[in-house]
Amino acid sequence: MSISHQNIALITGASRGIGASIARRLADDGFAVAINYSSNSQAADKLVEELTSKGQTAFSVQANVAHSADVNAMFNQVESRLGHIDVLINNAGILKTLPLTETSDELYERYFAINTQGVFNTLREAGTRLNNGGRIINLSSTTLALNMAGYAIYNGTKAAVEAFTKVFSKELRGRQITVNAVAPGPIATDLFLAGKTQEMIQNFAQMPPLERLGQPNDIAQIVSFLASQDSGWINGQILRANGGLA
Ligand code: NAP
Repeated sequence: MSISHQNIALITGASRGIGASIARRLADDGFAVAINYSSNSQAADKLVEELTSKGQTAFSVQANVAHSADVNAMFNQVESRLGHIDVLINNAGILKTLPLTETSDELYERYFAINTQGVFNTLREAGTRLNNGGRIINLSSTTLALNMAGYAIYNGTKAAVEAFTKVFSKELRGRQITVNAVAPGPIATDLFLAGKTQEMIQNFAQMPPLERLGQPNDIAQIVSFLASQDSGWINGQILRANGGLA
């Protein structure tokens, strides 16, 4: 990363949940942040206002990560507003648990389009456009280690993300860019809480030996470290962050 300019981070799916928390933390760390969202412009703009009112540099950028043309346009916009990107956080994702036999063609395609092709689309742009010395951090999930019923397709999308992480770290040889993934356990966001009873939520909260649900900031502070210069020797790794759940 250059020391002569403010480092620039693009966070996908940063209007809400873990992504918004990552955007706040990276802005506190001194990054200029591009806050990507898909449909919730209000939430994204509110976050931009919160950060800019503190004197931080932030702007929101709409793109459906599933569409390569959107992703290409998003990189163009970030470069023209802020400059070349140093840190890419692939956070946008969806979760809908269903038995495999009840999963429609449409849901299967939507899942892989957003969770997997979305990451492919940004990695392909990043491979030629990220500044040398940069960082890429992908969001996987601890569910991959738990093999719970209902998670077959979601886990499939994240297994691919972990594979991309390991191989892409090698393909970027010579650029001094690291590629890692964080695999959270349950985190109290819309994605996790939607459709669950209080009892189900309590059961998840009791699973890790630390006996609580994760909070978005638990993940944001790990991403902050992986985005920093201090993490430079960690490359091609999957870091499970789940209070000891698995
Ligand atoms: P969330 O609260 O549901 O937020 C999802 C974010 O992704 C929103 O900002 C949403 O934008 C954006 N998004 C959705 N589809 C998109 C698309 N096609 N293009 C661009 N942005 C899109 O989710 P979260 O819990 O923060 O999850 C973030 C990541 O962590 C996901 O990859 C998820 O799989 C992973 N993860 C979460 C948990 C957990 O327990 N929460 C555990 C393990 C892993 P809009 O506001 O515009 O809809």
